[in-house]
Amino acid sequence: MLRIEHLSKTYPNGTRALVDVSIEVPKGQFVSIIGLSGAGKSTFLRCINRLIEPTSGRIWLGDVEVTAAGPAELRLIRRRIGMIFQHFNLVKRSSVITNVLSGRLGYSPTLPSLLYRFRPEDYADARVNLERVGLLEKEKQRADTLSGGQQQRVGIARALMQKPELILADEPVASLDPATAHTVLDQLEQMNKRDGMTVLCNLHFLSLARRYADRVIGLKDGKLVFDGEPEEINETRFKEIYGEDAIQVEIA
Ligand code: ADP
Repeated sequence: MLRIEHLSKTYPNGTRALVDVSIEVPKGQFVSIIGLSGAGKSTFLRCINRLIEPTSGRIWLGDVEVTAAGPAELRLIRRRIGMIFQHFNLVKRSSVITNVLSGRLGYSPTLPSLLYRFRPEDYADARVNLERVGLLEKEKQRADTLSGGQQQRVGIARALMQKPELILADEPVASLDPATAHTVLDQLEQMNKRDGMTVLCNLHFLSLARRYADRVIGLKDGKLVFDGEPEEINETRFKEIYGEDAIQVEIA
């Protein structure tokens, strides 16, 4: 469903964040991208929906070439791709349900989108999605009064409003404590296993990747250094991805 060929990104300051990365992801896979901070994980995810413009390479979502799309087509493509952010990207002063509703309009809520009048069926959908993440009773509360884990679940409910085929989750649990991390990743797992959404999820910790992913992609200095099943990552592989001095930290 997703095909990436020779993807490279060099930032204007000369940083080579991605170097010739090629992968294919079949529908329904849960892929975790791992690597040190600065390895290129976030750049990689953001090139897929062109929040960051690739320097070279091509990306296809199904039959549509993302890298060739003009503005109107790109909007349509982005509707098929849900995005979940490390810092949740909620409109803090707006209510939980308004944040979820904004998912109807894509994932960069702006003032005009929040003044948009939603239809009754949008509200019904938003409530279904809030119930799904266990936050229906919080619908009227201001987003910034929720805990981090709850805010991320609002982010998930917002992504669900798009009924996306593909979810890009950029370090979705990096700001959360381990127990809360699992409640969020369990939701992503459900979207993957129950709804058949393909998930690409950046994760810092190998232990979380082992628990949730069907497949792990290792990035180091912008290069693909591993592509396989989590079980294949032994001590040697681990050091190839994280460096010689790295030690494994387990998140229970
Ligand atoms: P990760 O998500 O694995 O931490 P990133 O994709 O954020 O890695 O960053 C990859 C590399 O690109 C890093 O060296 C980072 O400093 C650099 N980088 C990221 N964003 C920018 C930017 N806007 N301008 C210049 N360099 C950037």
